Amino acid sequence: MELISHFIDGKLYSDKNCRKGKVFNPATGEQIADVELASKDIVKMAVKNSLQAFDKWSKTTPITRARIFSKYKDLLVKNMNELAELVSKQHGKTIPDAKGSIQRGIEVVEYVTGITSSLKGEHSSNVGTNVDSHTLRQPLGVCAGITPFNFPAMVPMWMFPVAIACGNTFVLKPSEKDPSCPLKLAELAIEAGFPPGVLNCVNGDKESVDALLEDKDVQAISFVGSTPIAEYVYHTGTKNNKRIQALGGAKNHMVIMPDADVEKTTDAIIGSAFGSAGERCMAISVAVCVGKETNNKIKKSLLEKTSKLNVGPYTDEKTDFGPLSSEAHYKKVLGYIDSGEKEGAKLLTDGRNFKKQGYENGYFVGPTIFDEVKPEMKIYKEEIFGPVLSMMTTKKYEDALKLVNDHELGNGAAVFTKSGNIAKHFTENAKIGMIGVNVPIPVPVAYHSFGGWKRSLFGDHSIHGPDGVRFYTKLKTATITWNEDNAGPEFTIPVLS
Ligand code: NAD
Repeated sequence: MELISHFIDGKLYSDKNCRKGKVFNPATGEQIADVELASKDIVKMAVKNSLQAFDKWSKTTPITRARIFSKYKDLLVKNMNELAELVSKQHGKTIPDAKGSIQRGIEVVEYVTGITSSLKGEHSSNVGTNVDSHTLRQPLGVCAGITPFNFPAMVPMWMFPVAIACGNTFVLKPSEKDPSCPLKLAELAIEAGFPPGVLNCVNGDKESVDALLEDKDVQAISFVGSTPIAEYVYHTGTKNNKRIQALGGAKNHMVIMPDADVEKTTDAIIGSAFGSAGERCMAISVAVCVGKETNNKIKKSLLEKTSKLNVGPYTDEKTDFGPLSSEAHYKKVLGYIDSGEKEGAKLLTDGRNFKKQGYENGYFVGPTIFDEVKPEMKIYKEEIFGPVLSMMTTKKYEDALKLVNDHELGNGAAVFTKSGNIAKHFTENAKIGMIGVNVPIPVPVAYHSFGGWKRSLFGDHSIHGPDGVRFYTKLKTATITWNEDNAGPEFTIPVLS
């Protein structure tokens, strides 16, 4: 059985005595590897190693760092097939979907090849007579990233390229469910020319997360995962005086106006609700139709299209979406469907008994659609993170917007309409971090920043893009004069003129 270990000080590091987790192929339900779960001591060692690397790395020039990232980008492109295979085999998503997510990660690497511009400070000449002022953005030290199972390549690449390009060193703690791709990302970083310790990768679970949260040498932590753990990481980390950005779960609504194009809208719903088996934090999980007639048209088209979807393993090129990532998650999603049925939502398609011939032990759930979902139902209040779409109907646009705004999660939301007025109103008034107008999955590109509102993000900074640079740097302001006159001590607060 393959044993997946850690990557510390530029090489694989294994501790045969440590606890182990199991890694599965979700399409077959077979265990394919063991993963070492780092003890507190191993995490401490990785952090110390990154701390040793920090001094020299932080003194490299931004252009030197940018050039290494250029090489890193080329290596990621060259290794795309292998990286995608690692993602798909352990997560279950299709190869084209895995490649798309790796590409979105590569775009962050491309963004930081221009880090020289992002790190430029501001300069003001003559803030007083012969006095100038300028700002510097300086690195924090050792930063850490804790990432979820659903994007084992993209989400780590939302974090470490920006942190490292800003002059920090980084310890990545990926999900223990699909750890091979993040480990490969760390190996490629050495091949690109990053010095050992600049990017370390420790595999593990709660014990390693807690070790990072408690380690006094870790200055900042980026977390992406479920809302309860994001909240825990935020409160524990800030209590330990760390800078924390903690991105949590989502319940993304699509508001469908009566004037929306039915075919385009239902194609958008199908791709965003069922793509990657619904295991995306920007998946549309609630379709809110404005008016009964809109609901009828959307429902009819959705049911026709859903019946033609291919659910299967990533190895089959015809597969539209694959299995859920683990047995525990599979059971959880089935439990939500049971609960929706019990609470009185109308089950239009039921994915619970879906079986794929030859893959009977895989964690497959077919596309599932509920209609007549009510705000008090568990399937509406909670994130399901599976191929399950809830449909709701409101009389007016204002009622649909209220649903969006009253939900405790605020990651993404979309409106489908031909009306510029509705689009503008929705964009300005939805209490949501990322808005799509006729775009179902409005994931900001690398040079913008990604982040939700309400209980979808704890902390003050979104991830990657300009907010990422702010998160991973400290601001310093210098006031400078070369004036040789000496006016003697000044006892009042200086007012420059
Ligand atoms: P998770 O919260 O279970 O795990 C995330 C990370 O936290 C993992 O590295 C895991 O090892 C660690 N962890 C798990 N339990 C812990 C505990 N008790 N204490 C400390 N650490 C713990 O999330 P997941 O199931 O891996 O990922 C799915 C979730 O991530 C969904 O809720 C999804 O919406 C969310 N997500 C959010 C975004 C976003 O940008 N907002 C992006 C991707 C995924």
